[in-house]
Amino acid sequence: MLKETELKRPNRLNFTGGWNYDPAPESASNVKLKETYQHFINGKFTEPEEGKYFATLNPATEEKLADVADGSAADVDAAVKAARNGYNKYWSKLSGRDRARYIYRIARMIQERAREFAIIESLDGGKPIRESRDVDVPLSAAYFFYYAGWADKLEYAFPNRNPKPVGVAGQIIPWNFPLMMAAWKIAPALAAGNTVVLKPAETTPLTCLKLAEIIQEADLPPGVVNFVTGAGATGSEIVSHPDIDKVAFTGSTKVGKMIHKSVAGTNKKLTLELGGKAANIVMDDAPLDQAVEGIVNGIFFNQGHVCCAGSRLFVQEGVADTVRDKLIDRMESLIVGDPLDKNTDIGAINSQKQLQTINNYLELGLNEGGEIYQSSCPIPDKGYWVAPTLIGNVSQSHRIVQEEIFGPVLTIQTFRTPAEVIEKANNTPYGLSGGVWTDKGSKIFNLTSQLRAGVVWANTYNKFDPTSPFGGYKESGIGREGGLHGLSAYLKF
Ligand code: NAD
Repeated sequence: MLKETELKRPNRLNFTGGWNYDPAPESASNVKLKETYQHFINGKFTEPEEGKYFATLNPATEEKLADVADGSAADVDAAVKAARNGYNKYWSKLSGRDRARYIYRIARMIQERAREFAIIESLDGGKPIRESRDVDVPLSAAYFFYYAGWADKLEYAFPNRNPKPVGVAGQIIPWNFPLMMAAWKIAPALAAGNTVVLKPAETTPLTCLKLAEIIQEADLPPGVVNFVTGAGATGSEIVSHPDIDKVAFTGSTKVGKMIHKSVAGTNKKLTLELGGKAANIVMDDAPLDQAVEGIVNGIFFNQGHVCCAGSRLFVQEGVADTVRDKLIDRMESLIVGDPLDKNTDIGAINSQKQLQTINNYLELGLNEGGEIYQSSCPIPDKGYWVAPTLIGNVSQSHRIVQEEIFGPVLTIQTFRTPAEVIEKANNTPYGLSGGVWTDKGSKIFNLTSQLRAGVVWANTYNKFDPTSPFGGYKESGIGREGGLHGLSAYLKF
């Protein structure tokens, strides 16, 4: 942890001016979690072959929420066999229209249980309920609705190309948007006619297992969707299983590279959605208050646990001091704490391991000569927390400017000309996303067309839509999810 004396605390007006919101916690009392969760294989909850379980914790309290099955090679094999059988016997025999019916049913059931899903997501992952309620869950339903619509129209989506399903998809997802990442993967796979074996992240398996309950109630044929829980070793068994036809991975670039090597030379189709280090660029003609809100939304909400987080801020010199002061004022007003409280802006860091990673980067930033401003907001005693942090006095060569931190930590740099900021923004191994704030459409076109990033938002940030493809350049990944691009990743032509 950083020592108090090492932090430069802003001596500025606190937005809340000495008053605070009353707590407004969402009640978790009618959310029923089981004590133990098993794999979901062939339409049934199934005990792990080796009888091993691991605990999933609430990162805001460090208390155990449930024990979850730890998947072995035998469990993965059983899930892949079930998926193959589900494909041969049921799913490949259904018409697109009938597949769509099931997918619509899942979408509607997510909507019906939206509150339950949102609470579980916040309990297990640490994200503020405002975000799981307003972003994760509605978007997850939206992805199922969107892809359900394509299931009986594949030949119109890809005319004269005779699209065919790939077969069995092995899917591995991270902990930052557990339900939504599952929706991004399962919905297009099913719509295209595939069956799936999905592994959620080891720290956030609970909403996927809740989704398994829905899939069971929706009466999906056995084996069409299977969930195997576990850590990296379980994921690696899925990737290397010989009867998997397509691997879809979302996670770190380090693991993505290992997976890329492991599927090289096989016939498996592959999509990789990996890390990012997005530039958020503020030109001197930008609406500054709006831009500050967008910067805060881009990096601090969801604790910076967002692959496309705007973690590098570039401000044009003429407005740099104003933007920094406004940003620091706004950071002082952010509320860090109970993820279930509707006033909370920044919830808990997802795990102790991730907390350690972020704290290591803060130390590194300090040692590299960075000037660190950390909000003076109160932080709960128990659980994993990081106050919103801004680091100035950094340059392109600093590791905290180059490497993904995946926490509520923002670096700030200045620039004079568009050419300079384009060069700086593109100077990372990543290319997932970016943001531009300006009053002029011509500047938007100039900057967005030259930024090497899969998505660039203009005068907004972190907006998602199922119709829009998402994915990275360079070390941020291969392929796209969302839209028709996301559907084609699950088809062969
Ligand atoms: P991670 O790579 O450590 O883990 C991701 C998943 O892969 C987990 O389910 C994990 O159990 C599994 N895994 C770990 N080792 C494996 C192996 N050897 N073989 C197969 N599976 C393995 O990543 P994380 O820390 O969970 O997630 C954070 C990362 O995800 C960040 O880098 C973030 O940028 C990235 N991410 C990218 C996107 C995107 O769309 N590009 C979206 C969300 C998160």
